[in-house]
Amino acid sequence: MKTAKLLLLATLATSAFAQTTTHSKEVDAAYPGAHDLYLDLHQNPELSSHETQTAAKLAERLRGLGYEVTEHVGGTGIVAIIKNGSGPTVMLRTELDALPVEEKTGLPYASKVHSKDDAGRDVPVMHACGHDLHMAAMLGTATIMARSKDSWHGTLMLLGQPAEETISGAKAMIADGFLKRFPKPDVGVALHVGNTLPAGEVGIAPGIYNTNADSLRITIYGKGGHGASPNTTIDPIVIAAKTIVALQTINSREVKPGELAVITVGYIRAGTKNNIIPDQAEFGMTVRTFKADVRKQVLAAIERVVKGEAMAGGATREPLIEHYESTDSVYNDPALAERLRAPLEAALGKENVVTQEPITPSEDYSAFIALGIPSLYFSLGGADPAKLDEAHKSGTSLPSNHSPFFAPDVDPALRTGITAEVAVLRNLLGGK
Ligand SMILES: [Zn+2]
Ligand SMILES: [Zn+2]
Repeated sequence: MKTAKLLLLATLATSAFAQTTTHSKEVDAAYPGAHDLYLDLHQNPELSSHETQTAAKLAERLRGLGYEVTEHVGGTGIVAIIKNGSGPTVMLRTELDALPVEEKTGLPYASKVHSKDDAGRDVPVMHACGHDLHMAAMLGTATIMARSKDSWHGTLMLLGQPAEETISGAKAMIADGFLKRFPKPDVGVALHVGNTLPAGEVGIAPGIYNTNADSLRITIYGKGGHGASPNTTIDPIVIAAKTIVALQTINSREVKPGELAVITVGYIRAGTKNNIIPDQAEFGMTVRTFKADVRKQVLAAIERVVKGEAMAGGATREPLIEHYESTDSVYNDPALAERLRAPLEAALGKENVVTQEPITPSEDYSAFIALGIPSLYFSLGGADPAKLDEAHKSGTSLPSNHSPFFAPDVDPALRTGITAEVAVLRNLLGGK
């Protein structure tokens, strides 16, 4: 009885503590500016590599806070630095880009923006991945860090990265001399908002956070002719069809059970008319894996199967295999993840910091990790807690990132994002 009472008191004390910290004076003071930026960015989203206004808005505000800001790094990227005595250099990264999605949230501040994509098509644009919330959190965090220089020492580097959705922005910033032009960060931090955790919580995955992603385009060469005389042709559609089915045996028969390997053929293009056998067939696929050795195994097996099926079908020449896009999985330094759990728990309450499983989407933040910057990439809860609860009870899920209905519960999510970032940065920058 006594123990139960004590436990209850302890729980109450922890949640009261969490309440006071997420509603701390410094977060309250920085919040209106962050929220204003959120509303502005949400209503004015820009596509990958075209984040001109977005970057300018963020740069202007950070400059106003005393950060030294360099713009146009790797296209529209920005690097903002504030030095505060001796100590490590710690990087916090946000993405700048939005997606070609038509917003259907019905929110009063929903995006109505249309713009031209790189192919010249008119497309609707929406911050359907929540990068607007990441930028707003960064501004709130930047405000608090600039106003509380007695609470940390070292160099804080804020990174606004373009073109995350096309997994090209991080590489572009690095190619533009990121390591030569700026101090190399000793540690990196990033977060991503999503609808699987309730707003108010954060999730840590020590080790693997998400997947390696590889995009492949395959062209099978046959010999065209009349559909009524297949004997005079080599049908690339039949070869492609057999190949696609055979590819599915890689994950079911070759990869060790329990290891993640996703092979998805997302499109197939061939032919023009029902009674014509075309010359060639093309299909495109995405391959997702967690581990480097599984990735290597799967990519080698795909090449073997594609070439083997083409040979078996009598293809006129070897198929073309184009590996046109790839990114490594984000790997959270396990020791760093464990170290940062304590300040997160202290700031948010122990019950609001959960350990999560790796997720299957991908991210180009891994390019910074590949430079030798140990990092923590964590998840920020974005779901309205009541709606998430309801969804769990009815066995459904809330709209995911990239959905036209994606709408994070802004107030608690943004406050939690700022609180979490400040707690992590102060810990890394030797403060209290
Ligand atoms: Zn996204
Ligand atoms: Zn995203």
